[in-house]
Amino acid sequence: MIETIKMGQNSGSAMDAHILLVEDEVKLARFIELELNSEGYRVSVANDGMAGLTLARESAPDIVILDWMLPGLSGLEVCRRLRATGNKVPIILLTAKDEVGDRVAGLDAGADDYVVKPFSIEELLARIRAHLRRNHESDPDLFQFEDLRLNRLTREVHRGERAIELTAKEFDLLDYLISHPRQVITRDQILEKVWGYDFMGDSNIIEVYIRYLRLKLEENQEKRLIHTIRGVGYVLRE
Ligand code: CA
Repeated sequence: MIETIKMGQNSGSAMDAHILLVEDEVKLARFIELELNSEGYRVSVANDGMAGLTLARESAPDIVILDWMLPGLSGLEVCRRLRATGNKVPIILLTAKDEVGDRVAGLDAGADDYVVKPFSIEELLARIRAHLRRNHESDPDLFQFEDLRLNRLTREVHRGERAIELTAKEFDLLDYLISHPRQVITRDQILEKVWGYDFMGDSNIIEVYIRYLRLKLEENQEKRLIHTIRGVGYVLRE
């Protein structure tokens, strides 16, 4: 029921945003997925509520497009459960229900927006862009890469739903890497930015801290995000 994440053809144009689509009508889901891919979004698709809820928690998407009427867990229930655990991902409900009361129920359950079926794909794309823009503007201190999130204000780090305790230096190191995703960061840059110009100690300290970070970030066998570029430094990437 869960498809793997696919790269869009022009990734980058949509800020590499990752969209989770939860829709049980397979043909419609496929159509929306292709449209989103061609806009440059990475898309995960779930065809029922429970799979959607699991993916929303584990893959930390930038936005969720959630059909209301789903087998098993309804879209509304998925929405409620996500909000109940503090998940703030923007949610756009897809609904065939056009009555005002239903819309209110959707918003009450924690959805940010809704699109009434049948909708034009352009309308859906416009809503997605608006929510992604809002998200980026309102949270300059919030960094996300794949399922890894770092909040500079609260100094909290999460991998999916799992909170990760970091020491001050581990946090600073991860902060530097996650604010420069996919860029190779040299050992000298890390020493300078994280430890300061006047660092006189053993530069093996970087390897030691990278190892600590990896242990904590991969405690549940999550995939590696911090990669070593031999002879140069490190990079945060898929
Ligand atoms: Ca449906």
